[in-house]
Amino acid sequence: MSLVDRDRKHLWHPYTQEKTAPLPLPITGAKGVWLETEDGRRLLDGVSSWWVNTHGHSHPYINKALSEQAGTLEHVIFAGFTHEPAIRLSEMLVEVLPEGLNRIFFSDNGSTAVEVALKMAYQYWVNKGEERTTFLALERGYHGDTIGAMSASDASTFTDPFKSLLFTVKKAAAPFALECGHCSDRCDVTCSKSLEDLLRHERGNVAAVIVEPMLQGAGGMIVWKAAYLKRLRELCDEYGVLLIADEVLTGFGRTGTMFACEHAEISPDILCMSKALTAGYMPLGATAATDNVFEAFYHEDRLKTFFHGHSYCANPLACAVAIANLELFEKENTLSKIAFINSKFKGFENELSRFESVRDVRIIGGVLAFEIEVRDGGYLADIGQQFYQRFLEKKIVLRPLGNVLLFMPPYVIKEEEIDWVLDEIRSVLSAYEATRVNSAKSI
Ligand SMILES: *Cc1c(COP(=O)(O)O)cnc(C)c1O
Repeated sequence: MSLVDRDRKHLWHPYTQEKTAPLPLPITGAKGVWLETEDGRRLLDGVSSWWVNTHGHSHPYINKALSEQAGTLEHVIFAGFTHEPAIRLSEMLVEVLPEGLNRIFFSDNGSTAVEVALKMAYQYWVNKGEERTTFLALERGYHGDTIGAMSASDASTFTDPFKSLLFTVKKAAAPFALECGHCSDRCDVTCSKSLEDLLRHERGNVAAVIVEPMLQGAGGMIVWKAAYLKRLRELCDEYGVLLIADEVLTGFGRTGTMFACEHAEISPDILCMSKALTAGYMPLGATAATDNVFEAFYHEDRLKTFFHGHSYCANPLACAVAIANLELFEKENTLSKIAFINSKFKGFENELSRFESVRDVRIIGGVLAFEIEVRDGGYLADIGQQFYQRFLEKKIVLRPLGNVLLFMPPYVIKEEEIDWVLDEIRSVLSAYEATRVNSAKSI
């Protein structure tokens, strides 16, 4: 039986309507930016395997770190025990994190890193003797798929079936020109008005504001101005609420700096990491907190303990991989590679914007995103699917978000590979526009 036939028998894939989705593509190996299919094709991984990969697939340095760790200590309970990989990783993280985030709590994926942050912020106030029952977040936000993370995310088709299970998180307008209504051009500080209104209205009742700094990912790759993030920090201080930065996507170079908060030179009270934390190798989540947050739990009273933990907290294999990931950022000067990718994207921006069907090109760090204008009442998802298939035929994986196309390669992509992908984007768009003209003529 083929791999696909065996897959069909027992597997259930994420975000997939198993009845109507195209068959999954069996991948038998991967190296650098290339995925190898069962039938011998090589596909360029243009979405860093769902936004996680940093230094390419199967990097010898990380492979070595992983196998050495496997030969030493694969796992041990993290309550009552500790180990070198977790200790070393916490030291390295505190070194690169925005200033003041001195405590690291490990979990095992992005959603749990967010759950930890929300529970931490909530219990912070409980431990201080205050009941604060509200969280604030932004429209277009995405924070994960567990119940708390879903509650903090914007309401969507994906959260709809679970509506009545979610707790209330009030949403302010995202700093996005097309929607906020407060200003006409790309928004900056003026856009904080919506959030400010909520903070004023809910005064004394808000535990924390949670946002994806600089780049709202799954909500459509929306890029902010740094001024908005700066203003957000000021507002949280002014109203005395905690600021949670969900850097699950933006962390580890994706927006050009190690963490997105650096664009505005701010430090949140709590910061969530996962995805690129382990170079795209292993599930690991981490939530960093300031001394101030930690001290609210540090007490003789055992009831002030942070009551949270996972079987695989601080898994040594995942920690060893994360350490190797950070070492490679230094050794290979990865931030300069991202700056180079960014310069290639910027060089393409004008040309891309001139396509009639392209709307709202956004570029930050190693991310290029743009919207395909949908006419004739076409379904957003359909247009995305069409483009996805067209790029696959050209041996490039560009999984879209609805009608938002995005290119977010592993940082080790070579110049000629970037040029080739941009060329193919050009040709797919030209072909698309030609067929639109033809179908318009035939009407
Ligand atoms: C992907 C993502 C998450 C969820 O992470 P998972 O590891 O998929 O659970 C949370 N927040 C943001 C900003 C993300 O992009």
